[in-house]
Amino acid sequence: MLSNPRILIAEDESGIADTLQYVLRTDGFVPVWCATAAQAIVQFTAEPPALAILDVGLPDMNGFELFKRLQALPGGAQVPMLFLTARSDEIDRVVGLELGADDYIAKPFSPRELVARVRTILRRSGRGAQGAPAAAPPTPVPAPAAPVTPFALDLERMQIRYYGRLLELSRYEYGVLRLLVQRPGRVYTRDDLLRLVWDEASDSFDRTVDAHVKTLRAKLKAIAPEVDPIRTLRGTGYALNEDLPASA
Ligand code: CA
Repeated sequence: MLSNPRILIAEDESGIADTLQYVLRTDGFVPVWCATAAQAIVQFTAEPPALAILDVGLPDMNGFELFKRLQALPGGAQVPMLFLTARSDEIDRVVGLELGADDYIAKPFSPRELVARVRTILRRSGRGAQGAPAAAPPTPVPAPAAPVTPFALDLERMQIRYYGRLLELSRYEYGVLRLLVQRPGRVYTRDDLLRLVWDEASDSFDRTVDAHVKTLRAKLKAIAPEVDPIRTLRGTGYALNEDLPASA
């Protein structure tokens, strides 16, 4: 029998934890609440959840550190993780994403949005809400070979090289391309990109994203006319093409 997906919640504020547990339970998930990072590590070790929601400000360890610890546990690398942060500033975003976390939610958050986000991440990771059998650990998947990529990312300088050539990018072009390059093959919807790259999604629109991808493509094409590194998924969004020639 398939059990409902377990969602680990590491959150020290009981009010927030109560809300999270309520909305997740209503939606058919099994929330497991931990008020400290130490408890979360114990729970995670006992049985890796389908997904973990980590508050960045925990009393005994920050959420980023906890993320690294959980990832290092058996099965930890396969568990999608979502940060919950009260500081929606750039640092939290960048740190969260550079760690490889799947997403983040800024407090205060809408419970419905959170559940929608959880569902999206589970679907993307193939652990749909119909339930990955929580008791049976997934068959170990050999780590995929790092794809050959013509992109070289320099996060400190906020620069990207393409086939050895430095790209002259606007701030938003850089933001979009950085996300795509960091997770080849992952599909980012226009909403994802607006939320993750633009400061204020409210005064931007889907076509803003499209316009930036268009100029980005023109810059890439100028360097390698035969190569099309950005895939468009009609009506959905964009992803970095995983099969790119090593030289152009
Ligand atoms: Ca907190």
